[in-house]
Amino acid sequence: MTTARRTTRKFRVGNAYIGGDAPVLIQTMTATKTTDVSATAASVKTLAEAGAGLVRVAVDSPNDAKALAEIRRLTLGVANISVDLQENFRLAEAVAPYVDKIRYNPGHLGRLEPELSWQKKVEFLVETARANDCALRVGVNCGSVDPVKLARYKELVAQNGGVAPEGESVFAPLLESALEHVDFLDSLNFDRYCVSIKDSDPETVVLANRRFAELRPQIPLHLGVTEAGAPPRGVLKSRLALETLLNEGIGETLRVSLTVEANRKTEEIEAGRAILANVAAGTVVDPATKLPALNVVSCPSCSRVQNGRFVELARRLEAAAEFARDYPLKIATMGCRVNGPGETDDADVGLWCGADRVNLKSGGELVGAFGYDEIVDKALELLREKIREYDAKHAQN
Ligand code: SF4
Repeated sequence: MTTARRTTRKFRVGNAYIGGDAPVLIQTMTATKTTDVSATAASVKTLAEAGAGLVRVAVDSPNDAKALAEIRRLTLGVANISVDLQENFRLAEAVAPYVDKIRYNPGHLGRLEPELSWQKKVEFLVETARANDCALRVGVNCGSVDPVKLARYKELVAQNGGVAPEGESVFAPLLESALEHVDFLDSLNFDRYCVSIKDSDPETVVLANRRFAELRPQIPLHLGVTEAGAPPRGVLKSRLALETLLNEGIGETLRVSLTVEANRKTEEIEAGRAILANVAAGTVVDPATKLPALNVVSCPSCSRVQNGRFVELARRLEAAAEFARDYPLKIATMGCRVNGPGETDDADVGLWCGADRVNLKSGGELVGAFGYDEIVDKALELLREKIREYDAKHAQN
């Protein structure tokens, strides 16, 4: 049975609202090169017309920021735009005049100007947002958790014989990071923000967001499963997490991240709409639905993709790895060097795609870099090796 939606704080993002009595806002992201102004402006318009209440654009450099100004001019009144800051929190100043919302990742704040405390950096972001009529999102992600919190958690697990101590959970560092930032933003009397706590495992997304909603019921939540992968698996993973949470009344905005080409990004909006319709109709997916033991993740791609063949590669590898579906191993395929190296660290078979070559990693270690035509065979070779290791280990037990 569907529970009534909870009532959180409400804030404005351009001409839309998130939280309170506002309908759940569907978001998506462009995957064209941001410096290709006409293609990106066209994509922003198409996505807004398809139902995206907020469209995110990747900005990494002064050139991207310059392009963003023009994209804003071409889409003003048609779309609400957000950007995500990666490691360069200072870019906020250059992009804020042209966007409605800025997402920052607490796990990335330490890298630029390490001598400055994260509190000073967040103060800077808040001042910038205030001066430019922008909202914020605190975007916590499993692939880039605050390193201090992650290290503390790993130490606790190590001290406890390799398992999480009672009262600790796999999402503890994510939750802790989100709570810390919420409390700090509140101390600055800034309330135009939402929080996202994303993981590639739908169950972790449910548990972490449910707990956050219990602890800070007034804060709007942006729901999403990160690196959910290509459809149909990516849609199913997202349904498992988002329909479960929305059915409990949790979630004020959402994004279904799918590994699809730039011209298919409307599928993210369609999937988001279908999720909301399922919740309204009471036809949500059974939360006990089992996914294959083999965890295949891939990023949704964005402007940072360095080779357009990434999407097709991720799809091809997923299909070719079907024979291993019953093994509890992880394959991760990422589209760029910005997040690829970090977000493949915990994969048994990790690929991050460069311009001409794809880096293959095994349990965080680089195996080599291979051409786009040979990488699937190399990855499958590594996967078979991991299966042999797994079988040998379990035959001994
Ligand atoms: S891994 Fe890179 S290409 Fe993929 S979504 Fe993240 S930033 Fe974009």
